[in-house]
Amino acid sequence: MSPRPTAASRTDVAQLLKRLDVPDKAHAGGDLAVRSPIDGTVIAELPTHGPADLDRMIGEAGEAFRAWRLVPAPKRGEVVRLLGEELRKEKEALGRLVTIEAGKILQEGLGEVQEMIDICDFAVGLSRQLYGLAIATERPGHRMMETWHPLGVAGIITAFNFPVAVWSWNAAIALVCGDTLVWKPSEKTPLTALASQAILARAIARVDGVPPGISHVLVGPAAVGEALVADRRVALVSATGSTRMGAAVAPRVAGRFGRLILELGGNNGMIVAPSADLDLAVRAIVFAAVGTAGQRCTSLRRLIVHESVYDELVPRLKKAYGQCAVGSPLDAGTLVGPLIDKRAFDGMQKSLAEARANGGTVTGGERVYAEEMPDAWYVRPCLVEMPQQSAVVCRETFAPILYVMRYEDFDQALAMHNAVPQGLASSVFTTDLREAERFMSAAGSDCGIVNVNIGPSGAEIGGAFGGEKETGGGREAGSDSWKAYMRRATNTINYSRELPLAQGIRFDVEG
Ligand code: NAD
Repeated sequence: MSPRPTAASRTDVAQLLKRLDVPDKAHAGGDLAVRSPIDGTVIAELPTHGPADLDRMIGEAGEAFRAWRLVPAPKRGEVVRLLGEELRKEKEALGRLVTIEAGKILQEGLGEVQEMIDICDFAVGLSRQLYGLAIATERPGHRMMETWHPLGVAGIITAFNFPVAVWSWNAAIALVCGDTLVWKPSEKTPLTALASQAILARAIARVDGVPPGISHVLVGPAAVGEALVADRRVALVSATGSTRMGAAVAPRVAGRFGRLILELGGNNGMIVAPSADLDLAVRAIVFAAVGTAGQRCTSLRRLIVHESVYDELVPRLKKAYGQCAVGSPLDAGTLVGPLIDKRAFDGMQKSLAEARANGGTVTGGERVYAEEMPDAWYVRPCLVEMPQQSAVVCRETFAPILYVMRYEDFDQALAMHNAVPQGLASSVFTTDLREAERFMSAAGSDCGIVNVNIGPSGAEIGGAFGGEKETGGGREAGSDSWKAYMRRATNTINYSRELPLAQGIRFDVEG
């Protein structure tokens, strides 16, 4: 084990926030204490927002929308282009703040900011490609087409584990689509939200004609999010977090006929077939299961291994797991940082106890650095060999637990793979074309992300991101996900001197 891990420093945080233009009064002397998972120290105390602030922000965002929707989309894209530019300048500072606030290793903190930059680039291109269709009409002398218009105020709710990238997936696309933003970040990671907002403010200041109030950050607990989703002035709610949160949010938004994007929990599986390239598989499995200390929505949680390769693969995994350095995410060489808090640790231990009671054999999973960092929650990532896919395996435990199970034939593996309530990301390791194609077919994986010979985590922004079943069905980021942020109008124009009706209906009247 390495020497005492590097602690989080309040001074370091204050300097980063200053550099990123977050005013002192926004993060000192308030009622919301933010702790760094690195060592549990309080790094800021933020004033939280109440109902009057929420009312004001939604009102201002609504007012701004009425002007912003009329700004040509490529000019809206210019704001996002400059946001990408400002993010490039502050990649180090914001990445480090992500590491301190969310506990992911520096490489992943920087990677998260890179993802923000990438989605900005994508959105800038998109700002000139918000295409509608020209559609063949059955009526002579007519033309039919569809037009995409800005939707309104977008309420964005985000989780602690991707504190800034998920906002940017929504914000960059929503802004070029002409929407305005009210962001409710996780109460565990509000500092990176304030910093991102300040970086966006720099970009906005560089463009003439942007109405005031196009973006707001709402700091507070879940109750603040509840009030946001209930507000009829919020046209779209894009909510990322647990399935429990989605189950609370969905009926409220549906009850007022609001638009909804849900990005909820995953329980991602991988099938390792007899023909798999095991060298590749080992590396992919370890990154997907252990990266971000198993706190990605796309983390690998279930490994379904053919019995013919099980006895070779599992010892190799144990060896690789033994080499994963657990420690402060600020230290070079660390691969596994801390869990977000004690609740996450307790949840992990509870699942491990249940797995043991169900016949599971656990390797790893114990707490480390308990003496050096009594208020932080570091664990060894663990493998749990399970005799079957019991109830605990079918739940998402947000920690580095990888359940490993055997299978005999591919049909059985597919059935096991799909027999969980979540449907986010999946993968198969095989060099058998038939298995690969079956996994991606209509009768294959039922997830939103279906990969072959790469792990389930680490999606690129160019594709649509999201999943099925209890993952919520939403799609964000690339492909045509932008359509959820706009309203579609079907236009029919008559340029003839006749008035033919659709379906050949005759309705003769004289005026
Ligand atoms: P969480 O559900 O506890 O909180 C997420 C956000 O929702 C926070 O901002 C929280 O304040 C807010 N919230 C909670 N209850 C709410 C309610 N009733 N109304 C409105 N807002 C409410 O999740 P977490 O612990 O921060 O994040 C981990 C979870 O998020 C995991 O389940 C993970 O899989 C999921 N996640 C999913 C994706 C995805 O894209 N599918 C991405 C990241 C995280």
